[in-house]
Amino acid sequence: MAKAFDTIVVGARCAGSPTAMLLARMGHRVLLVDRATFPSDTVSTHILHPLGAEALSRWGLIDRLTATGCPPIDIYAFDFGPFTITGAPGTRDAPLAYCPRRTILDKLLVDAAVEAGTELREGFTVEDVLFEDGRAVGIRGRSPNAVSAVERADVVVGADGRHSVVAGAAHPEQYDEKPPLLAAYYAYWSGLPMEGRFENYVRDRRGFAAAPTHDGLTLVIAGWPYTEFADNKKDIEGNYLKTIELAPAFADRLRSARRETRFAGAAVPNYFRKPYGPGWALVGDAGYNKDFITAQGILDAFLDAERCAGALHESFSGTTTFEVAMAAYQRDRDAKVKAMYDFTCQLAALEPPPAELQNLLAAIHGNQEAMDGFARMNAGTTSPAEFFAPGNVDAMLAGAATRSQATA
Ligand SMILES: Cc1cc2nc3c(=O)[nH]c(=O)nc-3n(C[C@H](O)[C@H](O)[C@H](O)COP(=O)(O)OP(=O)(O)OC[C@H]3O[C@@H](n4cnc5c(N)ncnc54)[C@H](O)[C@@H]3O)c2cc1C
Repeated sequence: MAKAFDTIVVGARCAGSPTAMLLARMGHRVLLVDRATFPSDTVSTHILHPLGAEALSRWGLIDRLTATGCPPIDIYAFDFGPFTITGAPGTRDAPLAYCPRRTILDKLLVDAAVEAGTELREGFTVEDVLFEDGRAVGIRGRSPNAVSAVERADVVVGADGRHSVVAGAAHPEQYDEKPPLLAAYYAYWSGLPMEGRFENYVRDRRGFAAAPTHDGLTLVIAGWPYTEFADNKKDIEGNYLKTIELAPAFADRLRSARRETRFAGAAVPNYFRKPYGPGWALVGDAGYNKDFITAQGILDAFLDAERCAGALHESFSGTTTFEVAMAAYQRDRDAKVKAMYDFTCQLAALEPPPAELQNLLAAIHGNQEAMDGFARMNAGTTSPAEFFAPGNVDAMLAGAATRSQATA
């Protein structure tokens, strides 16, 4: 059977649509399928850190996002109770974060993939990945009218999230796994102005965050350790509000706001998967997932899309072999995200910070350069490896010592 496509991408959200778009822009024949139709929502909050917004700029899409009226965010604040660290999360070139509704962001990405020449099939559920001689050669799926279809391609890309059917069929090696650590619920509120701030509140075994999104609404998410998931599920609203009461000033603001939606929530596992094998590749959550406490998923999905599309292009154009290009994709991904993965898993446990970290946080507080560094690290703009490097830590501690001598 002839191959109509170079690549089939399964899943058309943050990882799949950009992968399809970039491949199509490079002249490859791409089929993009999703069982969802667009616009549609998904269970996810949606902080888009500055480097994610920068990726949209590189792809020529940021103006489309800002035209939707999505409020920009230029300050991240981390309230630890005794003090708040407030800093700028971005760079001079990419200073702004956003919190776009997935109904809007994902539709914008799907449309861009189609404009680039991708063939899109919505409402199409992939049931199977087809293998011949150990190599993925296509998919079998079903459209909304229940008609079964087989499509073939050189490469099948799984951008189909945590329960990836492509990963399920390919059985990739899974490594550095950790179970779910945190459970969280979110809802949207009106009458809760945020003034361009993404606010995070860290308390003992509890945390919550708030950010402004489309339509004058504010997203508020609150969480607790996964060990309390089953118990706290019995009264989601009560536990959500009790968590917010741990920061009385924010709780006051929330009391004068109005909840406009039901609660949605999740707890997710943490893992890396080898993101390629003969005839297949994985991008986004399908290949690498981590707790959402650091809100890195969309940014990571965007960067995966660029790396994977670039590697596939090299292999299609014969610059290098599939194996060499995709091994580099895996290496680059893991090297880039590993420190943030560890930091995320540490935060998601919601344990009180160890004494050393508490000292460091106190030293950072009040030093604007260090607070900006802390905000940038939490945004994924700089790596935790860089931020917690001994030289940087020593400089921040020394800065605090000098400040306290000066005020003594
Ligand atoms: C509660 C929560 C809060 C989060 N908050 C943030 C945040 O603030 N910021 C952030 O950056 N990230 C956040 N994340 C993570 C973020 O949602 C993910 O990292 C991101 O959505 C990954 O995108 P993706 O395209 O890989 O997968 P997904 O968004 O999961 O998309 C997968 C797509 O594949 C399709 N699909 C799956 N199986 C099939 C099939 N068999 N056939 C056809 N189609 C299929 C699905 O319909 C879906 O559209 C959060 C996650 C959760 C759970």
